[in-house]
Amino acid sequence: MINTPIIDTNNIGADNNVKVVTRFAPSPTGFMHIGSIRTALFAYLLAKKNNGTFILRIEDTDKDREVKGSIEHISQSLKWLGIDWDYGPDKPGPFGSCVQSERLLTYRIFAQKLIDKGYAYPDPYTPAEVEEFRKQAEANKQPFLYRNHRPKTFETWDGTKPLRFKVPEIKKYHWYDAVRGNLEAGEEALDDFILIKSDGFPTYNFAHIIDDLNMSVTHILRADEFISSTPRFLSLYDALEIKPPVFVTLPPILREDHTKKLGKRDGAKDVLEYRTEGFLPEAVLNLLALIGWNPGTTQELFSKEELIKAFEIEKIQRAGGSFNEEKLAWFNHQYIAKLSSENFASHASIYLPEWLSTSSPVFKRAVPTLREKVIKMSDVMDILSPKGELGFIKELPVYSSEMLLWKKEPDPVASITHLKKVKEIISGLAEKTFSSESIKLALWPYAETAGKGNVLWPLRMALTGQEKSPDPFVCAYILGKVETLERIDKALEKLKEL
Ligand code: GLU
Repeated sequence: MINTPIIDTNNIGADNNVKVVTRFAPSPTGFMHIGSIRTALFAYLLAKKNNGTFILRIEDTDKDREVKGSIEHISQSLKWLGIDWDYGPDKPGPFGSCVQSERLLTYRIFAQKLIDKGYAYPDPYTPAEVEEFRKQAEANKQPFLYRNHRPKTFETWDGTKPLRFKVPEIKKYHWYDAVRGNLEAGEEALDDFILIKSDGFPTYNFAHIIDDLNMSVTHILRADEFISSTPRFLSLYDALEIKPPVFVTLPPILREDHTKKLGKRDGAKDVLEYRTEGFLPEAVLNLLALIGWNPGTTQELFSKEELIKAFEIEKIQRAGGSFNEEKLAWFNHQYIAKLSSENFASHASIYLPEWLSTSSPVFKRAVPTLREKVIKMSDVMDILSPKGELGFIKELPVYSSEMLLWKKEPDPVASITHLKKVKEIISGLAEKTFSSESIKLALWPYAETAGKGNVLWPLRMALTGQEKSPDPFVCAYILGKVETLERIDKALEKLKEL
């Protein structure tokens, strides 16, 4: 019999009496990489789409692998992206704590239930004996299975030995996965796995099933590495006489070349590194949402609210998608372009050089240009550095007088004449309405008559002293009227040297 889902995935949510509950269940074993965040995001979107509950559960039962500070790190990463939880390590639910190490009593109670039913027994073997069994199996070219060594009679469990599950029935399992469809696995996938270790902590295999039951989880969204263990989970659901939640296996996140799963070695970064580099959370969220989920339209830019609205399990793909930094840069640029000047300033503030503050008029005038050029917020540092495109703002770099000559017609007298005329025109502009547009409008007729290169090249050099910079109207506007006139004067002085 196919293990059909308890909930019709096309008809979940408010109209159905079952409230959707999803969970993200990381182990605190280090940084959060984007694969984990994508799982969290999809679980969050599914819950929110259905006015359901999203739980952040910390699976900290493997004390050897735990990395200090991980819980804080996980929380920070999710908060940064706006993936907020209804219950979490800081907020217990009606079911109690969301941290597994604080739920040991619950696992004990269920372990006892299994013992009472004859479905759990203390492992009587020493590690050396187990090793011997393993070797024997290998020599016989057989898979090693604990259940082949199950003792005839069970001792009483005093908690000092691992407690093993006794698989109730060795059979083929069929089950339904909302993304992968009907799946099955043979008897070899079943074994007497450990429920509770000798250190008193439960295994993942046991604890997550109890917690999902206790927390009324309706959908398990997780990576494909858990498919092979699903028959074991199903045998435990059977022993506990409970129905499993809907399994929703997410497609893998692949390397950019699509050859394999993205791993830490391929540069899968800590998600907070993207924050440090100056990516906006909206961009990271948008990109992640589209890895393995297809809205079925050509829309690419999605706010969190739009994602919640559009999200459907049916649109999760089976095939993996790749995480592409170039695409992330594109999304980031889109979101930066949408920032108001105030928001841009607040994002840029941590990357600004000491000489520039967000409250200074020159910064405010530079914002539109910066916003146009920045791919990630940290680019602000390069753009404003002495060699950067806006490096001239801080101070006029040392440049040679020859640079003030228009390359195609190098003539010092012409440059002097044009700069004097430009100075005269700019002097006549009101400071209040000084803008790149008003400067352009005022200079354009003269530049057109006298030759654009002949007039605008010396002006750009006079203002910036550097080859690469925005157009001279923008440069003049950013520098302001007074500084612009001063720099033109300096250029006129320099031209006298020729
Ligand atoms: N603690 C597991 C992990 O970090 C969670 C798997 C699940 O979502 O059930 O991989």
